[in-house]
Amino acid sequence: MREKLTNPDHVRTWPGTIPVEHVYTVGVAGEAFLRAIKERGRLVAVGCPGCGTDYLPPRLYCERCFEKTGEVREVEARGTVDTFTVAHRDLEGHPLEKPQVYAFVRIDGTGGGLVHRLGEVDPDDVHIGMEVQAVFLPPAQRTGSILDIVNFKPAE
Ligand SMILES: [Zn+2]
Repeated sequence: MREKLTNPDHVRTWPGTIPVEHVYTVGVAGEAFLRAIKERGRLVAVGCPGCGTDYLPPRLYCERCFEKTGEVREVEARGTVDTFTVAHRDLEGHPLEKPQVYAFVRIDGTGGGLVHRLGEVDPDDVHIGMEVQAVFLPPAQRTGSILDIVNFKPAE
């Protein structure tokens, strides 16, 4: 590989894999959000004192007016289906055993929401405006991941 290539068509490749590890840092606001899920089974939001925009998940600064946001506050882990889709195949294109519903759930009392799975519901019964609530893993099984929320199910 010491020769100088002058024609890009002559670039050589070696098939193989490179082991890569990474750490994803969620930041101060993201940590508050994931800790609330893991430690209390709750969702938290934050408001902007400058323009009143509400964020869930929380952010440190307002993306509209650049004001530092206020204190995080707990909100009910309930919301409304804003939009949804029904998947019949996995990421590799293989048919799923049963269809999986993914939805954007707008969380009550906030301007934000989460994309997550819907469960305990027939895909044919899902509709925009449907009221849902989060289902959390048992406390001992939580790891501080968004997947500590198993899914959202129809609200009781
Ligand atoms: Zn703002």
